[in-house]
This record gives sequence, structure tokens and C-alpha cells, in this order.
Amino acid sequence: MHDTKVNLSEKDIPQSWYNVAADLPFELPPPINPGTGKPLAKDDLRAIFPLALIEQEMSGKRWIEIPNEVRDILKIWRPTPLKRALRLEKALKTRSRIYYKDESVSPTGSHKTNTAIAQAYYNKKEGIKRITTETGAGQWGCALSYACNVFNLGCRVYMVKVSFHQKPLRKSLMHIWGSEVIASPSEFTESGRQMLKQDPHCQGSLGMAISEAVEEAAKNKEANYALGSVLNHVLLHQTVIGLETKKQLKIMGEKRPDYLIACVGGGSNFGGFAFPFVKDRIKDSRIKIVAVEPSACPSLTKGVYAYDHGDTASLTPLLKMFTLGHTFMPPGIHAGGLRYHGCSPIVSALAAKGLIESKSYHQLEVFKAAVLFAKTEGMVPAPETAHAIKCAIDMATKDKKEKCVVFNFSGHGFLDLSAYDRFYSGELKNYAYPAHQIKKALKSLPKVFSPK
Ligand SMILES: *Cc1c(COP(=O)(O)O)cnc(C)c1O
Repeated sequence: MHDTKVNLSEKDIPQSWYNVAADLPFELPPPINPGTGKPLAKDDLRAIFPLALIEQEMSGKRWIEIPNEVRDILKIWRPTPLKRALRLEKALKTRSRIYYKDESVSPTGSHKTNTAIAQAYYNKKEGIKRITTETGAGQWGCALSYACNVFNLGCRVYMVKVSFHQKPLRKSLMHIWGSEVIASPSEFTESGRQMLKQDPHCQGSLGMAISEAVEEAAKNKEANYALGSVLNHVLLHQTVIGLETKKQLKIMGEKRPDYLIACVGGGSNFGGFAFPFVKDRIKDSRIKIVAVEPSACPSLTKGVYAYDHGDTASLTPLLKMFTLGHTFMPPGIHAGGLRYHGCSPIVSALAAKGLIESKSYHQLEVFKAAVLFAKTEGMVPAPETAHAIKCAIDMATKDKKEKCVVFNFSGHGFLDLSAYDRFYSGELKNYAYPAHQIKKALKSLPKVFSPK
């Protein structure tokens, strides 16, 4: 019988994060200050981020040391195991080998805790008292709440109103870790009041919640803002995933993975998992790196590569990324973490250069794959993670060839069981590709930077 998993020891947790920007064979388009139209300066971000994170955001250094205080917390759940999905392989009758990196073992059940700890640490070190953030379904809000609790920081989470009422369980977790959770749009901020004036029954969106959290941080000296995905420093913190995976594949005797697969919302678990392999991919095009997204919110597969805002109220810098337009309102699919209009600038640049591929799947085929995985491997995946599983199954079985398929298990689905109930009761449906809404939202791209 084959080995089922590789557990590393604490000394195998990486000493440094890996900055892929140092190894890219092209220049990354800079973020733009929407006020001046010029590349963003470090000072432009000082009102909302600590200096250490701004420096990481713009760094060209290949390795950035992980502070001991951060590494000590990561030890609570890292290194995470790499597991071989032997029982799934058997059910699929495939000769391919399927592995998954299990990030669901963190205290909050997903990869997001990796960056939450680092971000809370640097804010604390620079004298910040309170962090503001947004959350959709609540995974990021939970991760940051846990991290703020660890470093004794206040935390205020603007939670998209519809999730605030429909998904109370993650709100309970945030309360346990001491956070204040506010339904967004709220009366607390100018942007919130503006949105409520336009529509008093507004159910909120991630873009709106970002506007509220950024506004509060910008107006308060002792408060900063934290983002759970998209930005370079967030993806940097997640590279512990790929660095460990590389070591573990070697121990398993795998010389060259054929497929490296992860789901993409803002791109953080994908980037963290895949960036340490990008140099290998540049040398050897047989390695395929695949980003998977929902057909209902298809930024990489159907969006345009252009400068756009990260939020609805147009407060954030302009990032060059694959986007559906910052006013795009994605349909209510259950993979809440994948309902974002844009995507990490580095992931977008890699896609534009053809160094990674992207695929999209509909909700029902994704849940079917999730259930097969749960029945064979025992683990119940988050709906987001299930997108990677669906793709891994497809790649492992698409022909008779024996392949090495590795995917990132970004989180578990224990707080998403109502979505599984709906799948079983037949209430879950596929959403058509929202072509009309995307076309409309793309008209809202900042004009100067729109593609010709
Ligand atoms: C938030 C989340 C995602 C999507 O976010 P990325 O930044 O694209 O990784 C994926 N999986 C899980 C479990 C999540 O919580």
C-alpha cells in the first residue's frame, strides 16, 4: 500500500515567505492612485496599512523573513499535512495520483488564518489599537478575529448584511474571539449612510463592506484596515502553503507534478499554493497550474485585464487585474468566498502571460464532486474548495494517462452544511453565465485605463 500522508515537523515550517515578483520574467503593472492617475506611493497607503505591510506589498526581494512571533503562532497548526486521496482515486478507477494540501486544519478552518496572523502582528507592532475589515460569508472575518484576539487588538468586522442574517454561525465565532460585527451597509460610515439613503433595504455586497471598513480606518489614527486576499502581501503570507507542499511532494517521491490546482476568489490560496512552483513552470511547460472559479463569477475566464477599483464606492487604488467591473453583483452562489469581481494583480498577470490556466464550473457539478470527495476521503470541503476538487477529478480522469494531480484543500465545509442540505433537497440550481450584468458592470471601469 502507498503512504497516505506526509506530516512534516515544526522545523519544516518555512523561515521566509517567497516573493514570486522577484522571479517573474516581466514587469508587474503598478497600482495607480485614482486621485493623481500616477503610480501609488508608499505614503498613499499609510492611513490604512502598517509600513511593514506596505513595504512587502511593493517589495522585489525574493525571500522575506517570517518573524518568530508569527512563526510561533503558525506552529499551532502548521505544517499542514499533504494527503494522498487513495480512496478517491479508487472510486474514479484512475491510475493518476491525487494529492491535497490540507489547509482546513487551522483554528478557523481555512487558509485565511496564515495571513491574518501576520497582518495582526505587524499592526500591533506599529502601535495600532484596532483593525477594521469586511467579510462576506465570514471566513475572513473569523480568521482576522482569531488573529486580533491572539495579539490583543480590537477588531471591527463589516459583514455583508445578507450573510449577517443568513449565516449566523461564523458571526458567533467572531464574537467568541472578541470582535464587533456590524451588518453592512451600516449607519457607522459615510459610505454606508450614502448607500442606505439610495436603498434602505440594501442587502450589501463585499465591495460595499470594503468601502465602509476602508473609510473607518482612513478616518481613525489608531485604526487600520486589513484585507484577506487580492493584495501582494496577502498572497506572500500564503506561500507557506506551496513551500511546504514542494517539500512534501519530494518526500512522496514525486519529481514533477502534472497539475497544480486551486480555487480562486481574490487569489490568495491559489497564489500561496502555486507561486513557489511558478519558476518550475517557466522552465517546464508540462507543469500545468490551474485556477478554478465559479461560472457565475468568472473574472479570469470571462473578465477583462484592465485597471479597476477593489470596492464599490471607488475608494481603493486602481489595480491592473482580471475584473468583471467593480459594480458587478455576483449571483448568490454558495461559494461566498469566490464572489469577488476582481482578482490578485500577480495572478492576473500570470494568466495574461499564459503561465497559468483558468477553468470555470457550475455550482451543481461542483457540489457533486464535493459529495464524492466526502464519501471517499471523509472530509467535507467548503463550497469554494469543491471547485478545486471538481477540476482535480476532471484532470485525473480526462484520459487514460497516469498523472500527478495536486490541489489545495483551502477549507472545510462544517459551517456550510445548509448549502449541502439545499443540494440534497434539489433547491440548489445553476446560475446562467451573467453576460448582461457583466457587460453593464464593465462599462463602470475607470475610463482612462479601459482597454481599447
Ligand atoms: C476565502 C476562501 C477562498 C477564496 O479566497 P482566495 O483569496 O481566492 O483564496 C477559498 N476557499 C476558502 C475555504 C475560503 O475561505
